[in-house]
Amino acid sequence: MKHLLLILAVAGLPVATAAQTPPAPKIMFVMHGGAGTITRGSMSPEMEKDYRETMEKALRAGHAVLARGGVSLDAVEAGIRILEDSPLFNAGKGAVFTHDGKNEMDAAIMDGHGLRAGSVAGVTIIKNPILAARAVMDKSPHVMMAGKGAELFATKMGLEIVDPSYFWTERRWKSLQQELMKEQEKQKSGTPHAEVRGENDTHYGTVGAVALDARGDLAAGTSTGGTTNKQYGRIGDAPIIGAGTYADNGSVAVSCTGAGEFFIRWTVAHDIAALVKYKGMTVEQAGNEVIHKKLQPVHGEGGAIILDAKGNFALPFNSDGMYRGWIGADGVPHVLIYKE
Ligand code: ASP
Repeated sequence: MKHLLLILAVAGLPVATAAQTPPAPKIMFVMHGGAGTITRGSMSPEMEKDYRETMEKALRAGHAVLARGGVSLDAVEAGIRILEDSPLFNAGKGAVFTHDGKNEMDAAIMDGHGLRAGSVAGVTIIKNPILAARAVMDKSPHVMMAGKGAELFATKMGLEIVDPSYFWTERRWKSLQQELMKEQEKQKSGTPHAEVRGENDTHYGTVGAVALDARGDLAAGTSTGGTTNKQYGRIGDAPIIGAGTYADNGSVAVSCTGAGEFFIRWTVAHDIAALVKYKGMTVEQAGNEVIHKKLQPVHGEGGAIILDAKGNFALPFNSDGMYRGWIGADGVPHVLIYKE
């Protein structure tokens, strides 16, 4: 037998050995922690260290789920939960303040297998909005729930409920005061309102994750406090399926961050998926097309993380920086922040 295989191999003929059974899909976990004006000059070494360490912790949490054969949805949830519990990121604990001094959060999760999805918008008392989005997907016939209804549902599902004061952080409070002052100055000088926050908010911080598990299933999730000084129940792109979050095993998983109004109007996450699916673009090509060629000319600032079912991923952004990282089967986390 050995000799026969050797002869076939030497003759260049296909040799059917166990080694040729199709390889198991490679596990991959990719995250972002928001895009915006994130430059080396604007960050102290201590802050940079904190961001890197927290991103690494979140990447390892997602990887641990995938490495033990867990599903991509659980990996997305595990990674996002860690960033939601950190005051550094604009999600959960570190959510930014609305114009009225409240914290209103949005989150979504999507299963690339069967296109199931769940999201919550404008929630104020759910400690981990990503868990509420998951509950909407798994335990209700709906896709999206908002405000009081979403909070009642999360309470009934036994999720952890906190007093709104849990989300108060000094750093985010100061950002709101700065925005309010800028707004007053603009009003005095008669400068018209900016159409979006891009002009008045320099630091975003939404979090997101995309994962590929050993079964070949993709998942995506995004969680955010939205934009500083948002008004009148404003909802961003993160909880809107196809805008800030999307996953389809037949194309890619995507999570976005940036000026949400643009990501909604350009249906960014789905547009990226469609370019891969129908035009056969790679993840890099599709990301480049939407984030750079479509959004940049209209000043739609932000970025996305994109992962396909083969484990190829891209992390395009048109802002100064984007907290981002990935961890593959080798379990080594990689974290980047600036344009490098
Ligand atoms: N995209 C989010 C929103 O507009 C904000 C962000 O990514 O920082 O709500």
